[in-house]
Amino acid sequence: MNVQFLDMKAPYLELKEELDAAYRRVMDSGWYILGQEVESFEAEFAAYCGTKYCIGVGNGLDALHLIVRAMGIGTLDEVIVPANTYIASWLGVSCAGAKPVPVEPDENTYNINPLLIEAAITERTKAIMAVHLYGQPADMDAINAIAKQYNLKVIEDGAQAHGAKYKGKRVGSLGDAAGFSFYPTKNLAANGDGGAVTTNDADLADRIRLMRNYGSRVKYENEIQGFNSRLDELQAALLRVKLAKLDEWNLRRTKLAEIYLNNLATETLPFVPEWAEPVWHLFVIRQSQRDTLQQHLHQAGISTLIHYPIPPHLSTAYTGGKWHINSFPITEKLAQQVLSIPISPHITNEEVSRVCDTLKKFNVAKGLVA
Ligand SMILES: *Cc1c(COP(=O)(O)O)cnc(C)c1O
Repeated sequence: MNVQFLDMKAPYLELKEELDAAYRRVMDSGWYILGQEVESFEAEFAAYCGTKYCIGVGNGLDALHLIVRAMGIGTLDEVIVPANTYIASWLGVSCAGAKPVPVEPDENTYNINPLLIEAAITERTKAIMAVHLYGQPADMDAINAIAKQYNLKVIEDGAQAHGAKYKGKRVGSLGDAAGFSFYPTKNLAANGDGGAVTTNDADLADRIRLMRNYGSRVKYENEIQGFNSRLDELQAALLRVKLAKLDEWNLRRTKLAEIYLNNLATETLPFVPEWAEPVWHLFVIRQSQRDTLQQHLHQAGISTLIHYPIPPHLSTAYTGGKWHINSFPITEKLAQQVLSIPISPHITNEEVSRVCDTLKKFNVAKGLVA
């Protein structure tokens, strides 16, 4: 039996009746954009995150882009971003016309290293973007303290961390605004594209609400030059069913992560700070002979992925940024060494044990572990 990296149909099969009912409810309603389902999901997700407002948008990138823009950040402005992240975090800044300024990660948590942020601040810096990578919350107190000192906004990228907690508080409620993605592989997943912004800032929420809908509050009255980026009724209805299940599914991930943490014989396991309650979007190990290991696991029928093989600063999309190899050595080393092994609410303890056994055999044979 092969171990799949992620079975995207499994959540549907588990909740088939409720999801089918939600689908029929929307189809029967005859109303498909900006209606009751989106409003209800927004209220439910805001309550879940512990924020006053939630605005459903088209996808995670738009959520970040609209936040940056609604904060009045644009041309000539700079936003500090993690060097080690998915490129969408940077693109959210670039879409608004501002410049992403990368900062290296902490070598243990892989999240932005707060100790290195101050050196990257200039007169043009307007905000810091914290990404809760792999489902592990970033060190928000340290980030917020620097932001306060320099009068900067704090944006969370929660696309991989729905439900994760930092010192008991949910991500999405820890900065000025947060962007979420409901892409089908995420912990809270739509059956298509979707995204949301959470915030406690009434003015910011109002601006994003305008921007997602052509700059219009009243039909055919356009206050600003807006965009079209709306979470649709069907996705919202499906997400409401899955939101009710999110804590249970995150708990299953946590139990599987515990098996890995206790049994996996590898060079470097994920590190969890005492203040973090991660939701294990990905379980990422590090290994010096990463490509050989990946090949070995593949031959044993175990699928793995690399998050991410090319850091944003070395991608062709950002060649204009004048970065080069060795600009961000920690990020580049991670790109060489990280390997994501299967974790999801729908894989079994047996599958996880098989991954542990196969990996151990490889590492014992290589003399990498005893
Ligand atoms: C998935 C993801 C995004 C973008 O979300 P989309 O819905 O695909 O646009 C942004 N940031 C991070 C960290 C992500 O993992």
